[in-house]
Amino acid sequence: MATAEKQKYRHPEKRNRPDNPSPRKPKWIRVKAPTSKAYGETRKLMREKNLHTVCEEAACPNIGECWAAKHATVMILGDICTRACAFCNVATGKPGAVDPMEPENTGIAAREMGLKHMVITSVDRDDLDDGGARQFALSIQKVRELSSGTTVEVLTPDFRHKDGALEIVIQAKPDVFNHNLETVPGLYPGIRPGARYFHSLRLLDRAKEIDPSVFTKSGLMVGLGETREQVLQVMDDMRSANVDFLTIGQYLQPTPKHAGVDRFVTPEEFDEYKKLALAKGFLHVASTPMTRSSYHADKDFAQLKEARETQLAKG
Ligand code: SF4
Repeated sequence: MATAEKQKYRHPEKRNRPDNPSPRKPKWIRVKAPTSKAYGETRKLMREKNLHTVCEEAACPNIGECWAAKHATVMILGDICTRACAFCNVATGKPGAVDPMEPENTGIAAREMGLKHMVITSVDRDDLDDGGARQFALSIQKVRELSSGTTVEVLTPDFRHKDGALEIVIQAKPDVFNHNLETVPGLYPGIRPGARYFHSLRLLDRAKEIDPSVFTKSGLMVGLGETREQVLQVMDDMRSANVDFLTIGQYLQPTPKHAGVDRFVTPEEFDEYKKLALAKGFLHVASTPMTRSSYHADKDFAQLKEARETQLAKG
């Protein structure tokens, strides 16, 4: 779809909704303008290889910082999503055919960017019989083949009603399996209507059952109207599902048609969430206003491995 057309029809299901006003951003929400040379190079490489990034499609506020450090998250399976979550800026609609060259181009991008750690995510593809699992598996395989020093993290959809899809992804041996719970269960009907909280939780649990050596990771956005107690309950649920790594970040509203920001959680509250989560047994926790699933994913992965080694050494 041409860019202008895509912008116009990006969220057809949200077009007629009333605008949601958002409170003014506090001083701790900082966005670095994308002006670096590395930003331009990353953008050029993605266009040349016909790859999409969630950094651009989700209008991530960290793009200036991440791309300056040559860290981008590739979004496979096209740029049109079959779901219409109230928080997400990725375009909704009927996706096109799966690009057979995408796994190879993802591997080439990892090599050309010299990535130590690559995050691969995707749109939801409820229209495909495997939800896109085979494309994830092929992409992992191609990164291994073409950029052997790169570790791979996948951030997948929930594969709801796609029996066998999770197994296909885990058998391809990603280093990290990430699936975001996004918010507390009580807010699912408004924020993530196509998903089910306990299905997503079970997906994380099952990933670890299939391969106990895989690191599992999940994330929450806060500032959507959840309470502190609800967040702590989600942490407990994640620990029951053996999730290793938790990310928590402030929800920011992509457009007035998206869910409004209920409030800006303070940096002190993020610090407190981090302390509480570590006390609950997560191996690693990233909790700051600007934290996103793939923010600093390379450094976090190194710390995650170190934390597991320390834990194993203690017995
Ligand atoms: S935080 Fe993730 S999605 Fe955002 S710019 Fe960085 S790599 Fe991309």
